[in-house]
Amino acid sequence: MDKYSVEIRHEMMAAVKSKNTSPEVFLRKLLFSRGFRYRTNSSKVEGHPDIWLARYNTAIFVNGCFWHGHEGCSNFRVPKSNVEFWETKFRKNIDRDKRIKADLKTQGIKELVVWECAIRRMRKDESYRNEILEQIEGFLKSADQYMEIGNL
Ligand SMILES: [Zn+2]
Repeated sequence: MDKYSVEIRHEMMAAVKSKNTSPEVFLRKLLFSRGFRYRTNSSKVEGHPDIWLARYNTAIFVNGCFWHGHEGCSNFRVPKSNVEFWETKFRKNIDRDKRIKADLKTQGIKELVVWECAIRRMRKDESYRNEILEQIEGFLKSADQYMEIGNL
């Protein structure tokens, strides 16, 4: 562990600890403005989702593309040094996400994953933002159990 610079470690700690990172807050505010009411980081729901919509029995996770290993996304690249360390790190996060996904499915809870790259584009692009919000609303009202939204 001592190989890693202070800055990298700082970033790592911040990413692990932060519960109110701005992409989450952005999505929450949008949903709120559309009339949705939710709980944040609900400790009663598996994986402590960033947004819990009890009325729709839906857990929403806003995933950072780097930390959660968004496959095929330009924001997800394994750093060139300490490759083994990073791969282990990403593997752990990805495995955890998979476990949560399986558990939620078993419990009959709907899950929506919104990748950070989609949130970034939503901030800048109003028509994309509306399109994604419609997709989210459609999912909430559907019988589908799982959906992922990313800007790939
Ligand atoms: Zn991404």
